[in-house]
Amino acid sequence: MKRIFEVDPWNVVTHELDKTNKRLQESMTSIGNGYMGMRGNFEEDYSGDSLPGSYLAGVWYPDKTRVGWWKNGYPKYFGKVINAVNFIKINFLINGEKLDLYKDEISDFKLDLNMKDAVLTRSFVVTKGDAKVEFTFERFLSVAQKELSVQKVSFKNLSDKNVDVKAISSLDSNVKNEDANYDEHFWEVLNIDEDSIVAETKPNNFGTPRFTSGMEMNHVTVMESVDKEVVDGKETSETFAISLEPDETAILEKRVIVVTSRDYDTVQELSDAMHSLSKEVSSQSYDELLTAHENIWAERWNQSDVKIDGDPESQQGMRFNLFGLFTTYYGEDARLNIGPKGFTGEKYGGATYWDTEAFCVPVYLGITKPEVTRNLLMYRYKQLDGAYINAQQQGLKGALYPMVTFNGIECHNEWEITFEEIHRNGDIAFAIYNYTRYTGDKSFVLNEGSKMLTEISRFWADRVHFSKRNDQYMIHGVTGPDEYENNVDNNWDTNLLAQWTLKYTLEILSEVTDEQAKKLNVTAKERAKWQDIVDKMYLPYDKDLNIFVQHDGFLDKDLEPVSAIPADQLPINQHWSWDKILRSPYIKQGDVLQGIYDFIDDFTEEEKKSNFDFYEPMTVHESSLSPAIHAVLAADLHYDEKAVELYERTARLDLDNYNNDTADGLHITSMTGGWIAMVQGFAGMRVHADGTLSYKPFLPKKWDSYSFRQVFRGRVIEVSVDRNGSDIKLISGDPLEIKVDDKPVALK
Ligand code: BGC
Repeated sequence: MKRIFEVDPWNVVTHELDKTNKRLQESMTSIGNGYMGMRGNFEEDYSGDSLPGSYLAGVWYPDKTRVGWWKNGYPKYFGKVINAVNFIKINFLINGEKLDLYKDEISDFKLDLNMKDAVLTRSFVVTKGDAKVEFTFERFLSVAQKELSVQKVSFKNLSDKNVDVKAISSLDSNVKNEDANYDEHFWEVLNIDEDSIVAETKPNNFGTPRFTSGMEMNHVTVMESVDKEVVDGKETSETFAISLEPDETAILEKRVIVVTSRDYDTVQELSDAMHSLSKEVSSQSYDELLTAHENIWAERWNQSDVKIDGDPESQQGMRFNLFGLFTTYYGEDARLNIGPKGFTGEKYGGATYWDTEAFCVPVYLGITKPEVTRNLLMYRYKQLDGAYINAQQQGLKGALYPMVTFNGIECHNEWEITFEEIHRNGDIAFAIYNYTRYTGDKSFVLNEGSKMLTEISRFWADRVHFSKRNDQYMIHGVTGPDEYENNVDNNWDTNLLAQWTLKYTLEILSEVTDEQAKKLNVTAKERAKWQDIVDKMYLPYDKDLNIFVQHDGFLDKDLEPVSAIPADQLPINQHWSWDKILRSPYIKQGDVLQGIYDFIDDFTEEEKKSNFDFYEPMTVHESSLSPAIHAVLAADLHYDEKAVELYERTARLDLDNYNNDTADGLHITSMTGGWIAMVQGFAGMRVHADGTLSYKPFLPKKWDSYSFRQVFRGRVIEVSVDRNGSDIKLISGDPLEIKVDDKPVALK
């Protein structure tokens, strides 16, 4: 493994411009503020390989699906988050020659993402002919003013002659998505002037809304403004010039206000807001803007920082993961969600996946206030109409939440995922339960939640079929969480989730108000049918092995462990044909074990052990979501070393480019893995069905200690574990009785 950034507790830093891994460096130096975000692209043009990417949350385009043979029910479009108008662009001319780090002779290069303050800096010395200039770029996306991007470039003349520097700062709508299905530009410029661009996404044939974004730039500098120009109606730029004496430094600050039609009804309102916000920020100094931003980040870290002593790699990995999550989503806007690549790349289109409910909800419950998770649930509630359409398209009743979406409508184009990976419907139902169990707040489940559960249950009741021969209900033709198997019958996890959803919905229906029950209108006949399915659901089980069987037919495979695969053929998804993968016994990510993880309290020690011992050795963990779940189960079974090994696969997944695909972007939803593995795994934190909280902590051998803070029902709890044992403290909130290693402990 080649580590391209140095190990540091708070910074992601390198002293090398790695031209062959430029995309990787860009992914790892991404920043964001939940409202917008960007890869670590350079401000100036770079003629080497690079993946430009700035994205605005919730601004997407329905790109017409490309498939070989069209089949009924296929999603018509593949939704994707689109590359925003490039608003960080600043090109430099040094004595008339363009700065281009791909070609130029440079020294003292440093690229440094400061995670504590969420500021990215880059510095280097460039020599062009007689001229030698030191550059320092600094930028942040403000969390104090979500529409604000701030950049500062300072440059110093290190040569003994005067150097002419020109800076051309632009807003440029000539941007594309590398993954555009038809190589189109998605933006059309509506208005452009010397300081601003208002652009709209091009029309589409699918009736989805078009988005408008407006950007206005202003500058603070000692340089002289020498030109303002609109190029081809697509780019607006302002040129600044200075003749720098030896040793002289000049600074150029660029502030851009970015507004979108998600917040304004008309182009006029949007433009007015853009102008007034721009004016407001131009009256503040760089330091004032930076301090407001840093203060909010300090609060976030204070509430959720995790400290690890004795393992600097893990410490950095954990913070990098939390940083990635916070830059993507902090719960301010219930219309937004957490894309698997957040603002760091195109793949996965920035859309919402089941990742949110299955992997992000457990973490956000632990580190932020309940409203944040509630917003994630509300997002799904508001998209129920789309979920009805998805079910109807499959000829089914009720609601089928999508595997991939922006608006509730399924918008991915692989049939084995969209038609078949329906376990997500159960995972979304489970998240409602998880929220309720963790927070003790029943108001969501008894209102919006009961509607979602009812409609999901209606879907399950229609999707199952009754096998007369077996006197059992079955679900055929699905893909489980293990996407290395498609179109299987009776995936244990899917059947379990369907059964559980129906059972939980019946329970909730008995608690809702009469008024709500009336609205839900679940007939006695429906209830009886649901109960019958609960009683007679087929859950494949093998008595001899004492395991739940992943799906019918799984045990007839040539069952070999991953250790039988030659090392040079891993990861199999980069070496084997798809056909070979599907025929193999290898499991992409937890499937039966995902189900056991979800309902961990419901299984005996023996059941957990026999299933883990059977399935984990066949699991290739080629979804980055996989290791954390297994780490929790391993820790639960006291397989401490295995738990640590799996933790290590998730904790530095992107920092060490473990899956060799971080160049495409960070695995934002998998960044939950380090926290899950540590808190639920090493510390054994559980919230049980009755709402009680317990821990069974252990310390990984390599570590001296670790500690984390957790939010729980109005309290902040601090858990510290070192070689002498654990110490669990109440930092704020009411006293609470918890259990540590099965013994009652009073937190006061
Ligand atoms: C995983 C899915 C996941 C998706 C997005 C895939 O590789 O198998 O479970 O939803 O990535 O993260």
